[in-house]
Amino acid sequence: MPTADDSSESVDVSTISELTPPDRTLMGPGPSEVHPRVLQAMSTPLVGHLDPSFVEIMDEVQELLRYTFRTDNQWTIPVSGTGSAAMEAAIGNLVEPGDTMLVPTNGYFGGRMASMARRAGGEVVEVDAPWGEPLEPATVSDAVAEHEPDVFGFVHAETSTGVLQPNVPELTAAAHDHDALVIADTVTSIGGVELRVDEWDIDVAYAGPQKCLSCPPGASPLTLSDEAMEKVLSREEDPRSWYLDLSLLEGYWGDERAYHHTAPITNVYAIREALRLVAEEGIEERWARHERLAGALKAGVEGMGLEMNAPDEFWLPSLNAVRVPDGIDDGEVCSELIERYDLEIASGLGDLEGEIFRIGCMGYSARPENVIYVVTALGDVLESLGASVDTGAGVSAVRRALSE
Ligand SMILES: *Cc1c(COP(=O)(O)O)cnc(C)c1O
Repeated sequence: MPTADDSSESVDVSTISELTPPDRTLMGPGPSEVHPRVLQAMSTPLVGHLDPSFVEIMDEVQELLRYTFRTDNQWTIPVSGTGSAAMEAAIGNLVEPGDTMLVPTNGYFGGRMASMARRAGGEVVEVDAPWGEPLEPATVSDAVAEHEPDVFGFVHAETSTGVLQPNVPELTAAAHDHDALVIADTVTSIGGVELRVDEWDIDVAYAGPQKCLSCPPGASPLTLSDEAMEKVLSREEDPRSWYLDLSLLEGYWGDERAYHHTAPITNVYAIREALRLVAEEGIEERWARHERLAGALKAGVEGMGLEMNAPDEFWLPSLNAVRVPDGIDDGEVCSELIERYDLEIASGLGDLEGEIFRIGCMGYSARPENVIYVVTALGDVLESLGASVDTGAGVSAVRRALSE
């Protein structure tokens, strides 16, 4: 029984003001800024999740997702939840108890793959590379030959290190030589850097909406080849998650369109609009824009005297890992940027904690004015904390790169 002083009994609504989030410039590892058209789509009225008009929207989202993933996979859907939900749908359905999954050690998200594979009842084996470096095809080939995994997972764009995995077709070929299915984490690459699911022979790719698609989190892209889906549909034991069981979700996203759970209608509207923007821009033009804008950002930070963490060959345009100068506290820099500039960037994680800044250049955030802003603000804050950087030279380098 609630008592008179039970705080849940009444609330003084005058202490809870109208929602007024600060107006931040988002240049971190996600979420990125949301395009006004997507915000507008999110304020349109709901229809039912089985309404004929919504069924049409579902078809359009699937078609736009295939375009963005560069795939013809019939099995292409937005999973309800954030990128980790699409990740768990991929791993939790592909990995059966007793299966072996090979995962990378070169960043934070390979570790998350391992945790999910273990929870799915799988055995985890590792292919090694240091944080901040990509996987070598030869190392993957050796690991696949040694462990004969059922599933091989890799991270295409490692948001914790700012490294883009090159040579993807060589990695998938190595796995397929030993009949392993390949799961790719494309959360920070989709819509931002070159990604070709079919041409590169990726069996399963999952992604997130709030990075280079510039859409709020809530409905997350997932695609599976027929072969991968065949493994999922012929499992001996049901996957441990009911919510993310793809054989059940097939009832809703497949031909039947039967209720499984209520789709996050508003998030589906949002991703539809975000993907429509991708198609209007053109996927290859979009990749080129990220490279151009992030290239200017990189020129700017290097021009002011900072160093990138990843060598140029593995540079990930959507997430720029910049070395923290000696004697500077990265956390203090991030707080000052929020406080003085309403600007979000992030510090390092795991093995790179305290060593790097992570500066995103994603989707709608990848605009010239944002790049100039982040370089100017970062330079100013670093100078005020005593770092020896030349902010003016950084800004000039951005201007030169943008006018090329
Ligand atoms: C952000 C991210 C995820 C997880 O996505 P959430 O939306 O935070 O659940 C997974 N992998 C990579 C590479 C990411 O950058």
